[in-house]
Amino acid sequence: MRRRRRGRRNRDGYSRAPIKASVGLFILALLALFLTRFPTRTIPVPQELPDWIREAPLSVNPWSRPGTAMEAVSDIVVHYVGNPGTTAAQNRSYFEGLSRSHETYASSNFLIGLEGEILLCVPIGEVAYCSGERNRDTLSIEVCHPDETGEFTAQSYASLIRLVNWLREFYGLSPENVIRHYDVTGKLCPKYYVEQPGAWEQFQRDLAAEAGTE
Ligand SMILES: [Zn+2]
Repeated sequence: MRRRRRGRRNRDGYSRAPIKASVGLFILALLALFLTRFPTRTIPVPQELPDWIREAPLSVNPWSRPGTAMEAVSDIVVHYVGNPGTTAAQNRSYFEGLSRSHETYASSNFLIGLEGEILLCVPIGEVAYCSGERNRDTLSIEVCHPDETGEFTAQSYASLIRLVNWLREFYGLSPENVIRHYDVTGKLCPKYYVEQPGAWEQFQRDLAAEAGTE
């Protein structure tokens, strides 16, 4: 039996084409909204990490690891944890615990411990909650310290130089692109290297001197 199918009209005699076009546009709009809300990772990230970086990713959660892609890596921001004598593992647990306590928004890409151990808490290329309005275009490193002065241990200091120089080489950054939290928001962080500007200048000289010696 032959069906009459003239112009793909439904029983009412109206064409479905405009409806299909609207549905198509609606789906496209949803897709566009999704892509702007959750941009695909566009900045390059190191495919392999050196064995001196321990991966310890936080679970994705709104309080410490939003899962948002960074827009660029323009600078590297150095912080101190502000809690004398605590270890990298303890500070990582604090960040992870925020997903349950909802106490505040905080985290950093890296944590460096008192013995120089390096933990990667928020993957490179993902936003961490550490440097205010610069979270989207800076990598953050928090460093543990034994006492109230905020001065880093020799091991932490050496690890910081090693990590920063590895990141600098990958992203083509100069020592001037390595800044303090203080330089972003005026916060007294990292305390010792704000109160002793000479120590920060020495750190930048040490960065340059150690570059390429790996
Ligand atoms: Zn800070």
